[in-house]
Amino acid sequence: MERHVYNEDHEALRLVAREFVDRHVRPNEEQFIADKAIPREVWLEAGKQGLLGLQVPEEFGGAGVDDWRFSAVVTEELAGFSVALGSCWGINSDINAPYLVGLTNDEQKARWLPKYATGELWTAIGMTEPGGGSDLAALKTTAVRDGDDWILNGSKTFITNGYSADLVIVAARTDPSKGAKGISLFGVEAGMAGFSRGRKLDKVGQPESDTAELFFENVRVPNANLIGTENLGFIHMMKHLAQERIGSAVCNIALATSILKETIEYTKERKAFGAPIGTFQHNKFKLAELTAKVEVTQAFVDQAITAHAEHKLSAVDAAKAKLITASIQGEVLDACVQLFGGYGYMNEYRVARAWKDARVTRIWAGSEEIMKELIGRDLGL
Ligand SMILES: Cc1cc2nc3c(=O)[nH]c(=O)nc-3n(C[C@H](O)[C@H](O)[C@H](O)COP(=O)(O)OP(=O)(O)OC[C@H]3O[C@@H](n4cnc5c(N)ncnc54)[C@H](O)[C@@H]3O)c2cc1C
Repeated sequence: MERHVYNEDHEALRLVAREFVDRHVRPNEEQFIADKAIPREVWLEAGKQGLLGLQVPEEFGGAGVDDWRFSAVVTEELAGFSVALGSCWGINSDINAPYLVGLTNDEQKARWLPKYATGELWTAIGMTEPGGGSDLAALKTTAVRDGDDWILNGSKTFITNGYSADLVIVAARTDPSKGAKGISLFGVEAGMAGFSRGRKLDKVGQPESDTAELFFENVRVPNANLIGTENLGFIHMMKHLAQERIGSAVCNIALATSILKETIEYTKERKAFGAPIGTFQHNKFKLAELTAKVEVTQAFVDQAITAHAEHKLSAVDAAKAKLITASIQGEVLDACVQLFGGYGYMNEYRVARAWKDARVTRIWAGSEEIMKELIGRDLGL
């Protein structure tokens, strides 16, 4: 089905993102996987291509666009190639942007944004803790005021870009008596005494993305690194989770679309019993059904992209998009592995990697149960 969400400016940026993937990622992907890292040079190149600072004001070196469709189109190209690429870029350049652009004061903007737009300052966001991620309001990391500083203690886990980040946005409890209303956000910088990182976590998929545990032991964070308003951190996070979830939905459907397309081509070439496997009715019907599901889902996601670009996307609609795309993606990738037969189980095939990489999309950025909880609450239940 023809899509109408993007205009020629968005499509022009799509070509820049596609060329970036083709020239700087695709040829080196095997190496990134072997090294368990996407090197900084790749992100510096993305910065040169203008792919990192889309939401950063022009005066700080970004594109300064107030149209989320530009982020969406880049997401489609990066996540359409791999979940790891889409998520590392997504955390740094999309999810963290509203915090670093929208919640920072002038001094912080001048300090962080120019390098954020080039990739010299790489970022992560630390909400989840070993004790739990779904119930964010229960987080245990603390920040206690001491003169002009805060003393941070606690730990975070599963943090994307956590190993390589120069700046981590950390959620910490600043008023234990106030529950969700006693949480604040801090910019914790690499090299601060007491801030350390654990090993790179050994994941089922996405070996090339760096996912880490972070530890804070009496880290002295200056009040100048408080991001947003003291004790409003939870409200800030809730406000921005809709962008995280629509971003995740865009990733999910982009990868499903890309792998489905590749699989359809494969089933035209691969023969069994003297005929292309795609022509067997079972496989043809399966591919027809998945194509219909993907296209119908894409139509909903496109509506959500447009709504978000107009600052009208509700948290519940973002949750619906995230929930359904993760589920359809899982269904598509599982069927595609099956259609590739034994090759579908070989790591050298994109379809196999995508299947492993994408399992987490039903867990991260709010699990599917939490999405259902949000949607259910909206039904008055
Ligand atoms: C690869 C990866 C990258 C990640 N990147 C980041 C990152 O960059 N920053 C960050 O802060 N976090 C990140 N996360 C963490 C992720 O967001 C959490 O894993 C997720 O929110 C779930 O939290 P949890 O793992 O603590 O599970 P839990 O909260 O312990 O949940 C366990 C199970 O219980 C279910 N459950 C919980 N509450 C309910 C309920 N009320 N009703 C029904 N079921 C419920 C959940 O759905 C889940 O199935 C990442 C995770 C992974 C795996």
